[in-house]
Amino acid sequence: MKYDSYEPVIGLEIHLQLATQSKAFCGDDASFGGEPNTHVSAISLGHPGTLPRLNEKQVEYAVRLGLALGSRINLRNTFDRKNYFYTDLPKGYQITQDRLPVCVGGSMDLQMEGYRRTVRLHHIHMEEDAGKSIHDLSPNHSMIDLNRAGVPLLEIVTEPDLRSGEEVDAFMTAMRQLARYLGISDGNMQEGSMRCDVNVSVRKKGDTGFGERCEIKNVNSMRFARQAIEFEVKRQVDLIESGHEIVRSTLNFNPTTGVTSPMRDKESAHDYRYFPDPDLPPVVFTQQWVDEVLAQLPPLPKALFERFVKEFGLSEYDANLLTQERGTADFFIKLVEKAPNPKGAANLAINKILPWAAETGSGLESFPVAVGQLAEYLQLIEEGKVSASIANQRLFPELVKFPSASPLELAQSLNLLQSSDSGFLEKIVDEVLAANPDKVAEYRKGKKGLIGFFMGEVMKKSQGKAEPKATNELVAKKLAG
Ligand code: ADP
Ligand code: MG
Repeated sequence: MKYDSYEPVIGLEIHLQLATQSKAFCGDDASFGGEPNTHVSAISLGHPGTLPRLNEKQVEYAVRLGLALGSRINLRNTFDRKNYFYTDLPKGYQITQDRLPVCVGGSMDLQMEGYRRTVRLHHIHMEEDAGKSIHDLSPNHSMIDLNRAGVPLLEIVTEPDLRSGEEVDAFMTAMRQLARYLGISDGNMQEGSMRCDVNVSVRKKGDTGFGERCEIKNVNSMRFARQAIEFEVKRQVDLIESGHEIVRSTLNFNPTTGVTSPMRDKESAHDYRYFPDPDLPPVVFTQQWVDEVLAQLPPLPKALFERFVKEFGLSEYDANLLTQERGTADFFIKLVEKAPNPKGAANLAINKILPWAAETGSGLESFPVAVGQLAEYLQLIEEGKVSASIANQRLFPELVKFPSASPLELAQSLNLLQSSDSGFLEKIVDEVLAANPDKVAEYRKGKKGLIGFFMGEVMKKSQGKAEPKATNELVAKKLAG
């Protein structure tokens, strides 16, 4: 296949909307939604004579992200104007950082299936968002909502280090996870808090140079990113193989048709005439402040993942699930401190508590049962007082209903405690053997696999209360005759 001899080369420009309370250069509400044109003021409307004033939180968030990604922080960075004319940009320019961005370099490691990919960052800069034009509300008019105008963004620009749609997906997912850990953005792609421009070129496998690229603008879902890349790679390979050249262009992706197409020239052929914003002095901070921000970073997903694997002996699969979100990891660490063993705690968190959170739509911090109680619950299983499956099916739901009850007392009142009491067990085992004389005979002739059948019967009869180890010994002894 001709496609197999090519490889995609992909670089991303990710826009991340920051979760600050107010906008980047004025006090307007920066939250998502709201009645159209209610989060606005003379400044975000771009009235003449107004002056921008920097939101310091935005700078701190940028530095947090840069530090988490190993970027170099520019202690002096500056704002520029990016000029273009569009109806949702009342000032006629966007404030951005063109010459001296806040963060330079850094990288992110991706664990792909069977290999690792390091994606280097070119830089991270601060800018403000534009408003939103809405074309499908009225047949004859375009509507404009300026609530988003002036909301702070970070633009994260990668080197062209990505090689597939899967890697792009993994990178975006990891970036969203990191942003949430750092508390700087919810990274919600449906609400536009995270979107990206995808630069795609292709080259023959083994080549070291780069081909000409096209830029797919404003992709707002991981699935669309993968679809757009797949389409674009085929399109470019087809062109090259039929003797054509790739022309650098800016494209839109249409999710309905799965096709990329060039943007109208008017939209893409910008000469932004960047120049320093005369209204905003350079942003200057000290290394000491950067060090303080660094010291206050929370534990990051990668470090937690490694700790969960090394210190707690969890599988990579479990460690990955438990570090998806910071709230989950925090919860697990609290639980594991009290639990009899990490694996039991991980099973409980993954099989019971995360599903509870998903069903109820709440965070783990509002799980009704205290960690100490959960540890007692795990202890009952660990000591063989309640079987793991009975605990899962019956004791856990009861504990959620009565979160302040003692797990042991609940188990007692529900009659769930397992028994290794020989009188209790012996009676049941005798009954089971007596009811299945032919199977007993087969076993004694050498069909040893039948022990599982007998165990199952005893468990059923005891309603799960027979303690497995003692039962196994007793069944084996009785069968031996
Ligand atoms: P420009 O200055 O024209 O915007 P940049 O060098 O800033 O171009 O690159 C913009 C984005 O395009 C970056 O994410 C970068 O990784 C990506 N990129 C650059 N060259 C290529 C290429 N040949 N193929 C794919 N992506 C590329
Ligand atoms: Mg660029």
